[in-house]
Amino acid sequence: MSKVHAWGRLGEYDHQVDILRDRSRAPGQIRAGAPGLTFGMGRSYGDACLNPGGRLWKTSGLDKLIAFDPQTGRLVCEAGVLLRDIQRVFVPQGWMLPVTPGTQMVTVGGAIANDVHGKNHHVFGSFGDQIHAIVLARTDGEIVHASAEQNADWLAATIGGLGLTGVIMEAELQLRRVDSPWLDAQTLPYNSLDAFFDLAHASEAGWEHTVSWIDCMNRHDARGIFMRANHVSGAGQSGPMPSNKKKTMPFVPPVSLVNKPSLAVFNQLYFHLNRWRAGHSRVHYEPFNCPLDNLLEWNRMYGRRGFYQYQSVVPFATAKNAIRSQLDEIQRSGQGSFLAVLKTFGERQPRGLLSFPMPGVTLALDFPNRGRKTLELFERLDRIVDEAGGRLYPAKDARMPAELFRAGYPKLNEFLGYRDPGIASAMSRRLMGD
Ligand SMILES: Cc1cc2nc3c(=O)[nH]c(=O)nc-3n(C[C@H](O)[C@H](O)[C@H](O)COP(=O)(O)OP(=O)(O)OC[C@H]3O[C@@H](n4cnc5c(N)ncnc54)[C@H](O)[C@@H]3O)c2cc1C
Repeated sequence: MSKVHAWGRLGEYDHQVDILRDRSRAPGQIRAGAPGLTFGMGRSYGDACLNPGGRLWKTSGLDKLIAFDPQTGRLVCEAGVLLRDIQRVFVPQGWMLPVTPGTQMVTVGGAIANDVHGKNHHVFGSFGDQIHAIVLARTDGEIVHASAEQNADWLAATIGGLGLTGVIMEAELQLRRVDSPWLDAQTLPYNSLDAFFDLAHASEAGWEHTVSWIDCMNRHDARGIFMRANHVSGAGQSGPMPSNKKKTMPFVPPVSLVNKPSLAVFNQLYFHLNRWRAGHSRVHYEPFNCPLDNLLEWNRMYGRRGFYQYQSVVPFATAKNAIRSQLDEIQRSGQGSFLAVLKTFGERQPRGLLSFPMPGVTLALDFPNRGRKTLELFERLDRIVDEAGGRLYPAKDARMPAELFRAGYPKLNEFLGYRDPGIASAMSRRLMGD
């Protein structure tokens, strides 16, 4: 048995970890080893990737690129390949993943199973929208080939399906053309929630990437920093290369380094530094898309009790009030977050039965685990999200009540018909009963 934790480090649990090494033998391995759960890089914050006391099939050995068509940009690869590695191989060849989350250190299988999103949902949708086909191994030995033309219902269940429909062995993805690794970016400070909505609206037509950091400790209104960027086009362009030297958070402090006084200082500094730096810049896609990948194991900063991320999405119609109410609750609670991200999703309907992205506005916040006090804040935030017709993101979740999950994911019953009875996670037991 080995101790495994998820990204939020809320607890470490014993697991029997089996590494899937070879896609021809892996289906037999999972058939013989079931019940279990697939594990990618454990970048999910809560319990979607945990199976305490049980088996984990780690996909780190399924790391091969299988085929690439330079005419169409279609890539076939094994499910344990990291998004970072795809980018590093293909960007120099003028191709790139259309959608990447805020860290590249995730696997293709994990990105499909949570149908992850980037900063450009209004242009490309989510990761699942880039998938042409998958090969799925079930624990009874069945192999399902799913694409838009064949077994399309299995694709819809597996995109965003939290790893519960089978083990994705390989996937065929669409890459997009790019001329260079650089983006031309703009940094714009804003001083109210209305100003955020105006900027988001005004940026939709002309900017591919849009995202904002929000200072949720500010007493007056929601000030923040809005960032938007487009890929640099045309040959012969240049820009600053990111440093290859990564720093690592070297230890787990006994208590969280993120607390009310440190947050107040950080948020002030971050806002004013970026206000001062506001304007145009040229940036490499890695620091722009994944700024936190520069500090390895930054999740240790939250100390031995770990931390939660609370990420919701609410429809456009209710968004202004719901976001304001959430920020008010956070203010009142005295608990804050420096990783506070506010962004809009486009109008595209989700492809997966349990996909998180939907047309609307998403707010993601990290909170140090302060026990009951933090959980009570979440209960108040849940009510706001529920009343606004929104939902929470399972990839980030460790505690949402089953009723909120059911209310937010109306296709849950349809999804249950595709579950693999030999696969379960701590999250499936909590939210689906088994
Ligand atoms: C710093 C940081 C920033 C992030 N930013 C974003 C963001 O901007 N947008 C976003 O959407 N997400 C974001 N995330 C969340 C992250 O992208 C997802 O949790 C992602 O799914 C993690 O992938 P993983 O390979 O680590 O999978 P894991 O966390 O190990 O597993 C996730 C789920 O996928 C299943 N799974 C994994 N591999 C397979 C497979 N081969 N077959 C079937 N099921 C499988 C697991 O069973 C589990 O249910 C962020 C996470 C971090 C740590």
